[in-house]
Amino acid sequence: MIITDITLENFRNVENQTVSFSDGVNILYGSNAQGKTNLVEAVYYLACGKSFRGAKDRELTTFSKNSSRINANTSSGERQYNLEIRLDTSKPKEIYINRVKIQKMREFMGIFRAVLFTPEHLSLIKGSPSERRSFADSAICQIKPAYISLLFEYYKVLEQRNALLKRYRAEGSDGNDGLLEYWNIKLASDAAQIVKERREYIKNLNTHAKEFYSAFCSGKEALDIKYSGTPEEYTSQSEIQDFIIKKLEENLVSDIKNGATSCGPHRDDLNVEIDTKPARLYASQGQQRSSILSMKLAEGEISHNVTGEYPVFLFDDILSELDLDRQNYILREIHSKQVFITGCIDYLFSSVKNASKIYVEKGVYHNRDIPSCGQ
Ligand code: ATP
Ligand code: MG
Repeated sequence: MIITDITLENFRNVENQTVSFSDGVNILYGSNAQGKTNLVEAVYYLACGKSFRGAKDRELTTFSKNSSRINANTSSGERQYNLEIRLDTSKPKEIYINRVKIQKMREFMGIFRAVLFTPEHLSLIKGSPSERRSFADSAICQIKPAYISLLFEYYKVLEQRNALLKRYRAEGSDGNDGLLEYWNIKLASDAAQIVKERREYIKNLNTHAKEFYSAFCSGKEALDIKYSGTPEEYTSQSEIQDFIIKKLEENLVSDIKNGATSCGPHRDDLNVEIDTKPARLYASQGQQRSSILSMKLAEGEISHNVTGEYPVFLFDDILSELDLDRQNYILREIHSKQVFITGCIDYLFSSVKNASKIYVEKGVYHNRDIPSCGQ
């Protein structure tokens, strides 16, 4: 899978420009606040249909403009796709595949796949469970677009159940009017499917991440990642569903008190352990970096195994955060894949062979060689 070029119009600080890419390593370099991450953001938008920086669509359009456009040519095996996102501050976004407008985001997902690694991901191990859930969910969505609809449906039902809990709380009701039963069954049914998908994904991720991690530390430590929340003994769809319904019934009083649902995949987590100790509590900076890097490379392996092609790798400002050994390991691993690497310090990249270099200045992208260190 590769992206051959992208055209940005009124996107962030880019007025109107087409940038072509090499199918190997693409290095975007330049001073701070010039537009390196903006370009990565646009590329990743094509993979997940939103900004990875949590920005709303209207924030992506250049200040003082009302609409913007991302257009890219990508290829996957023999197939070529032209993908276009049109954003307008006064109406919903429009998405086109080969110039045909599509209605559902799930039709778009999976056509272009990318693995993103940014400094924010470095807090994945010690950060909140929601960050780890969203890591798993974004990765699954790209290889299984139907999973988006499942998540969407689950969160809609969850919202409705929570609204009912809040109503009970306001009315001083004990919630035994029979209404909750319907929502519990609906919620638990979607929940069980999500748990199954996530467990399967994490099991796969663990297999690959373990290998990468072991290579980083020459086999001295072992990484282990498990999906946690719903006990492992419940394996089938109906067992998980029954377990969740039972929990929802048990927690009814506290759920009404809190106006929130206390059990389900929206509360689950990933347990990351190094040598059987929770990484969340004990991992050093270096161990966290190696774990996350292993998880990101593993994400790429799964995508390759499922689809037959490697995704595009986007390393935004991350290489300079890693020591030389890890940098070299990444550069070896990503050899022969399409990669985007951004950073300010140009000499860091002088050892990267056969890279296409793009100098970024005030939202303009110049194809150029990297000046050698000290110039
Ligand atoms: P760093 O090295 O610091 O990470 P960068 O080159 O990655 O820098 P970007 O995040 O790509 O920087 O670009 C930031 C620039 O884009 C800032 O100057 C910011 O003001 C500008 N910018 C962001 N959003 C918009 C917008 N909607 N309209 C115009 N300019 C914007
Ligand atoms: Mg940046």
